[in-house]
Amino acid sequence: MEKYTVTQSERLNELNAPIEEQEREFETKEERNEHFRKLEKELTRYARNDIFDLLESRHLTKYRITGNKMADWLMEEGFTEVITPTIISRDSLKKMGIDSGSQFLDQVFWVDGKHCLRPMLAPNLYVEMRELLRITKKPVKIFEMGSCFRKESQGAQHLNEFTMLNLVELAAVKDGEQLAELERLALNAMEALGLKEGEYEFVQEDSEVYGKVSFDILINGMEVASGSYGPHFLDANWGVFDTWVGIGFGIERLTMALDKGRTIKRYGRTLSFIDGEPLNI
Ligand code: ATP
Ligand code: MG
Repeated sequence: MEKYTVTQSERLNELNAPIEEQEREFETKEERNEHFRKLEKELTRYARNDIFDLLESRHLTKYRITGNKMADWLMEEGFTEVITPTIISRDSLKKMGIDSGSQFLDQVFWVDGKHCLRPMLAPNLYVEMRELLRITKKPVKIFEMGSCFRKESQGAQHLNEFTMLNLVELAAVKDGEQLAELERLALNAMEALGLKEGEYEFVQEDSEVYGKVSFDILINGMEVASGSYGPHFLDANWGVFDTWVGIGFGIERLTMALDKGRTIKRYGRTLSFIDGEPLNI
């Protein structure tokens, strides 16, 4: 039996061929090559049509649509968008507990000795929510959606630059009600994305490190978001003393899950794909 060559396989992967196609076996090489030519042509035509459809009528990529759905839902919930710097200080990482000795430090992209590209939104959101509570003395509900940077040993679910949507509520629930609120928000987020019960799962685990519950949202077994809540031992570093809940979603992971895609690079910032379709066609 003949399988596709490595080059053929890579091309089919690029063109988003279904798994069954990629695993197909043939009696002879000629038969295989003939099938490959037809399939490549068909998939290329499909990708071209999709690109035309995007440029001529849809205009917004799936990535943007996912982000917009989330932002629309959050505004309905009374959240306000904040926009904060992508370059943050070493000191703010330190206040997050990321300091010499922590493994996470290896994943940080440094701009200079004192500044890095943010690996998460939490440091900036701590400051924003603290200041807004000080000014208003009312519960604060904010979110940010923007690039985060982490050096990852590349895989199908990791990008070095990805888009995090982080929502936080400060002084909005009583102590003891944080987990229920996390679950409520997670449920509403899934609904806002058009997902039905059974298409996602929430996983709560005791974290040994923090002696606390971690809260993850999974779609098809892939983590698409992580939630946490306070009072938390890091809060004092930020001058925060009220209850809070927060969830960080990966926009590319959500988009990939909704599109039933297999590799995240199609859905992130890229010069190789547009809206999930390859440009080298
Ligand atoms: P993982 O364990 O999958 O590496 P994580 O737990 O380190 O993810 P968090 O810090 O919880 O990630 O970030 C919140 C969300 O941001 C994740 O649930 C995921 O959707 C997204 N995310 C994190 N790192 C990446 C990455 N390198 N590329 C794409 N999305 C990411
Ligand atoms: Mg996580």
